Amino acid sequence: MKYIVLVGDGMADYPIKELDNRTPLEVARTPNMDFIAKEGRLGRVKTIPDKLSPASDVANLSILGYDPHKFYTGRGPLEAANLGVELEDDDVAFRCNLITVLGDKLIDYSAGHISSKEAAILIRFIDHNLGTNRLKWYPGVSYRHLMVAKRGVDEHLENLQCQQPHDIIGQGILRNLPRGDGAEVLIELMENSRKILEKHEINQVRIDLKENPANMIWLWGQGKKPAMPKFADKYGLSGSVISAVDLIKGLGRILGLEVIDVPGATGYYDTDYLGKAKAALKALMDKDFVFLHVEAPDEAGHNGDLREKITAIERFDQLVVGTILHALKRKKNFRILVLPDHATPISVRTHTSDIVFFGIFGKDIAARGFSGYNEKEAVKSDLYFAKGHELMDYFIKF
Ligand SMILES: [Zn+2]
Repeated sequence: MKYIVLVGDGMADYPIKELDNRTPLEVARTPNMDFIAKEGRLGRVKTIPDKLSPASDVANLSILGYDPHKFYTGRGPLEAANLGVELEDDDVAFRCNLITVLGDKLIDYSAGHISSKEAAILIRFIDHNLGTNRLKWYPGVSYRHLMVAKRGVDEHLENLQCQQPHDIIGQGILRNLPRGDGAEVLIELMENSRKILEKHEINQVRIDLKENPANMIWLWGQGKKPAMPKFADKYGLSGSVISAVDLIKGLGRILGLEVIDVPGATGYYDTDYLGKAKAALKALMDKDFVFLHVEAPDEAGHNGDLREKITAIERFDQLVVGTILHALKRKKNFRILVLPDHATPISVRTHTSDIVFFGIFGKDIAARGFSGYNEKEAVKSDLYFAKGHELMDYFIKF
């Protein structure tokens, strides 16, 4: 038996006036997802548990069958897993952004999407100047890096309240610094980073080129290594993850899944949809399970770009869902699950905690008479998972 999960990040949406109160999924031409709805069934699922923020890592953890309330410990540990940094039990891993500040204001959470090459030099420079045998920095991709604090730095670090830098654009730094016992340790590191980064020649050049300098670090998203059972132990299946997004890859590594890099997978509109589908089919030759994630519809949602969102959904349907269905249709022993992780509505331009829906098709799943793959059809379904992580149990064991 083969199990395939296809995630169109942020695909779900609200009815939109310009579309005669239809959603992008209703308007987009999606013959393959419609086939799944007609020949299989639709249902609804709550992927963002109460009190957690609607982040993709939380939602995808639910989809993979793990209760985020139990297992989500923050972005830092996922970043560490993605960078191949092994955490010890007492280590606290922080996500470390390179940011741009002007006066007291945070003006760019990504330092102009700084190149990985420039960023690595700056992060090593920070590690050299601020690092100790208990504090270490690791360079990642573009503005996204890692800091690991060992036992002895401060016992309270794990519980500090830290702001997400993308939530405080245009706001003052001072009132958004970490809070709680032990916060002064982090605040000092962030303030010292500013002193040494401002003068660095990479930043001087960036300013000359009218690019945003990476003149401060921002530490947040901290947590300890999550104690999660491996996917193979939980479900008895071997599997692979295909995604362009670091956090999803990190999640895959923590779960012991093989993480496949597809050369043309960009995490943006221009991603190689077909390349991802082919990589998934190849992986299924010797694996039982594949999780394929496409970021593009989410990006279109963040940009408020309706046309790009519909295009991304149509490409996902044709090149990912279609390619995989076509290859598997003649085989009998498979099941396919297609869903968004959360909604990224065009009107909101960010993730929401709304209940989303899924389509499921394959062995032992009887057709239930749904007319197409969209939000409104799914509301008619009596299949609902209030605990999102229980959907995977159903998908595999039903
Ligand atoms: Zn997402």
